[in-house]
Amino acid sequence: MENCIFCKIAEGSVPCKKAYEDERLLAFHDIQPQAPVHILIIPKIHIDSVNRLEEDTAELPAQMIMAAKKLAKEYRIEHTGYRLVINTGKDGGQSVDHLHMHLLGGRSLGWPPG
Ligand code: AMP
Repeated sequence: MENCIFCKIAEGSVPCKKAYEDERLLAFHDIQPQAPVHILIIPKIHIDSVNRLEEDTAELPAQMIMAAKKLAKEYRIEHTGYRLVINTGKDGGQSVDHLHMHLLGGRSLGWPPG
């Protein structure tokens, strides 16, 4: 989608620090990391948010979680723990309107989030 920064990253016209890729997904390091490990996992196709998931895209969140699991092992946070976050909409703190899951770890994370 035009003017979507994550679509541009997915198509390779904006650079990223890639962490994982398969046919459907791309994962890359967050530009403003909030933890020692902070990776974003996105579908390559444009979907605005969880609100836009439909039957034919319903498997994507499960695939994103499986990619996060692989990355947690690779970045050695599988045993210390980590958090998966999908911010949705204004109150959810979503700032990029392309579905993405944050993988955060490498430090103790507070709860509840701000
Ligand atoms: P959210 O607030 O949940 O929409 O998260 C969007 C995330 O994307 C933020 O953590 C940003 O730091 C991150 N971000 C925005 N632009 C880029 C970029 N070009 N490369 C990597 N991460 C980005």
